[in-house]
Amino acid sequence: MAKRPSNLRTYEKKRDFTVTPEPPPRPAKKRAGPPTFMVHKHDATRLHYDLRLEMDGALASWAIPKGPCYDTKVRRLAVQTEDHPLEYGGFEGRIPEGEYGAGDSIIWDRGLYQTVPPGTGSEMRKKGHVEFVLMGEKLKGRWHLVRTRGTQGGKATWILFKAKDEFADETYDVVGERPESVVSGKRITRGPTPAAVRQGRGTPLHVLLRVWPPMEPKRASKPPAAKSHLFEAHTGGP
Ligand code: MN
Repeated sequence: MAKRPSNLRTYEKKRDFTVTPEPPPRPAKKRAGPPTFMVHKHDATRLHYDLRLEMDGALASWAIPKGPCYDTKVRRLAVQTEDHPLEYGGFEGRIPEGEYGAGDSIIWDRGLYQTVPPGTGSEMRKKGHVEFVLMGEKLKGRWHLVRTRGTQGGKATWILFKAKDEFADETYDVVGERPESVVSGKRITRGPTPAAVRQGRGTPLHVLLRVWPPMEPKRASKPPAAKSHLFEAHTGGP
């Protein structure tokens, strides 16, 4: 059996491939032609956008909570995550409850990309500044990823921003205007089901009953007033 690429060890360790529909790691493949990129819109515990750039036979990945922005003045936090296998580029589906990254993930954008200059992705990532041109359906033009000194949960934090070119547009909210999958057209994603709901403690009925308890009959302290129709009907009887 072929040895698995070391840069996919973290990817493999975090997942149970008998449970998740995500693809298992395969040996890194050097492909001919321009490298691919994709962005997954991932409705996990916190919605985010996973930018993945094909690099070193795998997908270098960054989780961007607010997603990319065409306004060159806007810097978006991008947390570097583990490399994913190339096959992950075609994954769209729901990661099961209890699994790492549980929730829906759709292919929000995809296409080809090229580093500036071409073929230098691996070195640029090591240096902490990747400049690249995206040729996607939604994302186009030149972008920068720059590593900061910070970390979040032990992962390196970067910033993503649009370079100044003819595609830059401060009025275009690409994340808001284009919510759909470029593969299935799916627009609505569903996050993970909270544990309380899975265990039946937080079902809609349960919550409703807590907020608005059922009415229970109470013993009246006084008999109804004589003008009550029902009461009158009984007063004359034996
Ligand atoms: Mn993710």
